[in-house]
Amino acid sequence: MDKNIRLGFVPTMGALHEGHISLVNKAMTECDAVASSIFVNPTQFSKGEDLDKYPRTMEKDVSMLSAAGVEFVFAPGSTDELYPSSGSLCHVEPAAFSRICEGVARPEFFRGVATIVCKLFNIVQPTVAYFGQKDISQCILVKRMVQDLNMPVEIRVCETMREVDGLAMSSRNTYLSPDERKVANILYRALCAGKAACNNNSSAGGSGFVSRDVISAAVTDVLKTEPMVSKIEYISIASHRDMKELDSVKADTTGAVISSAIRLGNVRLIDNLLVGASENYIYSQAEQSL
Ligand code: AMP
Repeated sequence: MDKNIRLGFVPTMGALHEGHISLVNKAMTECDAVASSIFVNPTQFSKGEDLDKYPRTMEKDVSMLSAAGVEFVFAPGSTDELYPSSGSLCHVEPAAFSRICEGVARPEFFRGVATIVCKLFNIVQPTVAYFGQKDISQCILVKRMVQDLNMPVEIRVCETMREVDGLAMSSRNTYLSPDERKVANILYRALCAGKAACNNNSSAGGSGFVSRDVISAAVTDVLKTEPMVSKIEYISIASHRDMKELDSVKADTTGAVISSAIRLGNVRLIDNLLVGASENYIYSQAEQSL
């Protein structure tokens, strides 16, 4: 491809919805051509997770992408095309991330994500790649990976697309029963309460810093009102730079990424909100010093 062409890239695992298409739309406004990939990446699933039943809707996905203006779709027909059965000797190991929330809950996750994103960048060679805030730890990981490993790709984060009641759009929402779907916005409502607690200086005794316990309690209190929440996997109040947990938050200096994973029945839901300085950092297009 001509070096002067800005190629946008939207990696996905398919089962596309308006959230994915919002990334394509953003790419269309900023790039000369847009490529997307559809690949359910086995290395980011833990044993017993939903790899086999992950929704696969290839034909519909390709027509949605093409209707949105995507010119190139990379959709390997089999896992072997990316991971030969003879095995791989090398992978990307974001060691520090294995100790953070999503890494503790799903130990293979970050290595799987970093490795597949690196492979896709090498294959597609995009100028700029688009990721959704919905998977905030993935966004922060990819931003760090391209910076730490000097990869020549710009990273853009796009806002989370939500259903009208606030539920973050997700391919896994199709697993929700009608009753679960009715209450599934509980996670968004709980995170909003956490964000409000961060911004509530009166609970901070005038210092502007709000302790993580206060924020976490605000999230938990809302989640506890819904009996269908069968498990709170984690509530994380972390730095936007590396997802390390914060002891306290001041919106305009530390900022915060408030994220959580819960089970509604058997369905795992994740979501997050950004507070103050974190929003500027995550959405900034300039290179940032760490
Ligand atoms: P996935 O197919 O789940 O791997 O997602 C592919 C890309 O779409 C990732 O960058 C996700 O963060 C992004 N994405 C998924 N859901 C949403 C959403 N509701 N709003 C915006 N982006 C999303």
